[in-house]
Amino acid sequence: MTTNDNKRPQKVLGTYAMIAVIAIFLLNIFVLPTLMERSIRETSYSEFLMNLDTRQVKQVEFDTQSYTIYYTVQAGERVQTCKTGIINMSDELVDRIYTSGAEFGSAIPTQQSPLLSLLIGLIMPALIFFGIGILLQKWMAKNMTGGPGGAMSFGKSNAKVYVKSSTGIKFSDVAGEDEAKELLTEIVDFLHNPDKYRDIGASMPKGALLVGPPGTGKTLLAKAVAGEAEVPFFSISGSEFVEMFVGMGAAKVRDLFRQANDKAPCIVFIDEIDTIGKKRDGNMGGNDEREQTLNQLLTEMDGFDGSKGVVILAATNRPDSLDPALTRPGRFDRRIPVELPDLQGREDILKVHAKKIKVSDNVNFHEIAKAASGASGAELANIVNEAALRAVRDGRRFATQADLEESIEVVIAGYQKKSRVLSEKEKLIVSYHEIGHALVAAMQSNSAPVHKITIIPRTSGALGYTMQVEDGEHYLMTKEELENKIATFTGGRAAEELIFHSITTGASNDIEQATKLARAMITRYGMTEEFDMVAMENVSNQYLGGDSSLSCSLETQTQIDQKTVAVVKEQHQKALRILQENISKLHELAKYLYEHETITGDEFMEILLKKQEVPANAAVSD
Ligand code: ADP
Ligand code: MG
Ligand code: ZN
Repeated sequence: MTTNDNKRPQKVLGTYAMIAVIAIFLLNIFVLPTLMERSIRETSYSEFLMNLDTRQVKQVEFDTQSYTIYYTVQAGERVQTCKTGIINMSDELVDRIYTSGAEFGSAIPTQQSPLLSLLIGLIMPALIFFGIGILLQKWMAKNMTGGPGGAMSFGKSNAKVYVKSSTGIKFSDVAGEDEAKELLTEIVDFLHNPDKYRDIGASMPKGALLVGPPGTGKTLLAKAVAGEAEVPFFSISGSEFVEMFVGMGAAKVRDLFRQANDKAPCIVFIDEIDTIGKKRDGNMGGNDEREQTLNQLLTEMDGFDGSKGVVILAATNRPDSLDPALTRPGRFDRRIPVELPDLQGREDILKVHAKKIKVSDNVNFHEIAKAASGASGAELANIVNEAALRAVRDGRRFATQADLEESIEVVIAGYQKKSRVLSEKEKLIVSYHEIGHALVAAMQSNSAPVHKITIIPRTSGALGYTMQVEDGEHYLMTKEELENKIATFTGGRAAEELIFHSITTGASNDIEQATKLARAMITRYGMTEEFDMVAMENVSNQYLGGDSSLSCSLETQTQIDQKTVAVVKEQHQKALRILQENISKLHELAKYLYEHETITGDEFMEILLKKQEVPANAAVSD
């Protein structure tokens, strides 16, 4: 990692030397002569003769090359050097000078002090340029660390360096994510007390990879590490390595690690590492620059001594696209999952962010967290902020529970669309559709399936909207639960069919989700007898939506399609049956929703259970 770095200062010095030499030349040719000439008075030849006659001339010297006579004149105390042109160099003139008592000698001032002229002509400019050089270098050094580099900083990593708490973010600002915090705390602790670990012989992991869906707080966690650690913290984004010129990315990696090694113990954080860490595939015309950068990164990570205390953190939401060489132990030994927050985590995150705004005392964060199921940390932060904005819009001084609830819908489904007015008929269809979903769900699970249903159109395009609740956390789902879910998805369309004997486009999203689920049951969860436990589909990008690709023969694909249709069809029939059995409740609830436009889970259950035998027996499927 030396050649490139050593050349640069040499080149810079060379440039300075050139400038200095040129400047000295110019100084000597133009400036100094005129400086010296200034003290010499040019006189007429007759004045010279007159001075001779009055015996005022002390010394005379002939410069035969430039046909000039230099002479000094005593005027009182002062000695003045003068010059005049030679008219005629005759013996007569020499005699005349001799008789005047003047000496023949050195009257040209430059020859009076050769040392001084050397000083002025050579050493002084050298000193001046030396000084300027030092200043320039200082200025450049300042530009290279921190801040976007100027034209001089090619190949320099523009990593931002933080020292303790300059980010102001602490672990306490990150709610939930306890496992991630614990692992990171250990790293911070190691950097503070390395001896404690060395005594046992433990060595710190060289690197830790934060993986998780977008908005779960990966970048935030890294910033918190910077805020807690009392060591330098280099932060750079993967995309900053990508440059216009081939080889620059690699040079930047080298520079970053050189800096890190100088500053050890320290932490290097590479955000969005997938930009440079993608798998190297055998594709023709691959991205050479990216590959070089990655290779350099791999080499550097091997190259430094773990006990020195350089810890590398990286974050990505595409862990499966990373090159296996990068994620192997010895490089990123630790993989820290930063998942979507659970109920408790969501509540904590809401509370952390609610500290930044004014909220009324009686806000129940538990309820909000329940309603915002599936929301990421970033979305929760957004929800709190939206609530504050809504309060301001309404001229209130603090946000209320209602603000928070409304803002969940804003963040998830978009703003209320005031301009879109549904016709009465459409509104009725949407009411039945939404109640259809909820009723099918309720009959299958015997509990409030929804937090809230509204039929106010949203900017996202949804005409109605159902907020589901989770009762506790689910990590496993049984086959029956999955089937019930599909039935619930089909419930909306089933209600339309049952009541209006016609179908609408409103179910497109339901269809998509039901299909996805049914397909996953067959291709990924091994829930059919025929395929047993064989994976028919590979999922990549699990944190970004999860693209899947089929990995089976064409015949099997046909079978999968047929089975998917069969599963959905069966559940659709079940939903129709459930609604048929409870058609009076369907009418009642839909009417209520139509009139009120919004119905809460509690209201829903109240109407459902009113003067009716408990619908438990209806819930038993098949
Ligand atoms: P990413 O995982 O995509 O890097 P960020 O760290 O940038 O996500 O998070 C974006 C924002 O979301 C943060 O600035 C913070 O306001 C909020 N946030 C995310 N997770 C949390 C959390 N666990 N606690 C508090 N705030 C969070
Ligand atoms: Mg991020
Ligand atoms: Zn629907």
